[in-house]
Amino acid sequence: MLKPGSTIGILGGGQLGRMLAHAAQQLGFDICIFTDEDDSPAARVSAQTFVADYRDAQALAAFAKRVDVVTTEFENVPAETAQALIDAGALVRPSSQALAIAQDRFDEKSFFNAQGIATPRFAAIASQADLDTAIADMGAPAILKTRRLGYDGRGQIRIKTKADAQGAYAQLGAPGILEAFCPFEREVSIIAARGEDGAVAFYDLCENEHAGGILSRTVLPADVKDDVAARGRDAVKKVLDAFDYVGVLTIEFFVMPNGALVANEMAPRVHNSGHWTIEGALTSQFEQHIRAVAGWPLGPTTRVAGIEMLNLIGDDADTWPTLAADPEARLHLYGKRDARTGRKMGHVTKLKLR
Ligand code: AMP
Repeated sequence: MLKPGSTIGILGGGQLGRMLAHAAQQLGFDICIFTDEDDSPAARVSAQTFVADYRDAQALAAFAKRVDVVTTEFENVPAETAQALIDAGALVRPSSQALAIAQDRFDEKSFFNAQGIATPRFAAIASQADLDTAIADMGAPAILKTRRLGYDGRGQIRIKTKADAQGAYAQLGAPGILEAFCPFEREVSIIAARGEDGAVAFYDLCENEHAGGILSRTVLPADVKDDVAARGRDAVKKVLDAFDYVGVLTIEFFVMPNGALVANEMAPRVHNSGHWTIEGALTSQFEQHIRAVAGWPLGPTTRVAGIEMLNLIGDDADTWPTLAADPEARLHLYGKRDARTGRKMGHVTKLKLR
């Protein structure tokens, strides 16, 4: 177990790093951020920050020396970054294998299927000819996504009819994956943590609504039957155990009209759909992740209220004076300097006490 006063290194300087830093501070840890961005939300609440390119081996070696364990707030950590940290003697949690698989949509879905977890039908696309073949096979509607570096609906092209596939590979501009469109009834996520000792703790299943590919609202309890949630937990446990995972991991699923769960993607980190756990669970996902990577026992995940979490995207955050005056709204602002369209600026959690 890392002693209080130890330093936890976080790759990435965004809001997830900022909220991890808050939780680490509560347990007496210092946070050191590594980011390629100046003036990041996480840096402003952390003891120290390295601002350098994620491929700067010298800076990574210095960071590795400064910290007692390294974790991440984003999955697109270049493979060289994780390797350079390991070479410099750092303990990296979760493992670089989990990070590598989660950053490639084709590898991720192949991995799910290998674990017996259902996904939409998919095919790797490396040329327009591949796309034509896959569309002929799978039919429309379908979604063409970049294999790597897509998030919040970016790097995606909807193929509503077969004709939309013409020229779509050039438009995507990168190796891709074609997924059959899933006519889901709702979207849910399961957030869980696995400790150093292999213990697993689950949060209640979250029901999520997206707008323009970005999470906009999370509600609990989710309107799904207990057996659906149980099957989701089984799938998450398989993934955690397969990676000998340490930390928080999230899987997003589509719930089909017949109750079947279809995995969309995983995030090897704390997740936007778990922000409610700050006020709504006995241990927040952020504290849980810090506990896990520090080798501490996991905390209880009991939910204490009905939940509605609303993301503040772009200029939604301009409503802060109204939200600040609303006794039902627990307001979180991430300290980002400019409210670009589609940027996550903050969130609000409303609790319905039982
Ligand atoms: P992603 O970035 O892959 O999580 O996609 C963002 C959102 O697009 C998801 O939360 C869904 O609302 C929608 N979406 C992605 N893939 C599919 C699919 N295969 N079928 C239906 N909707 C999808």
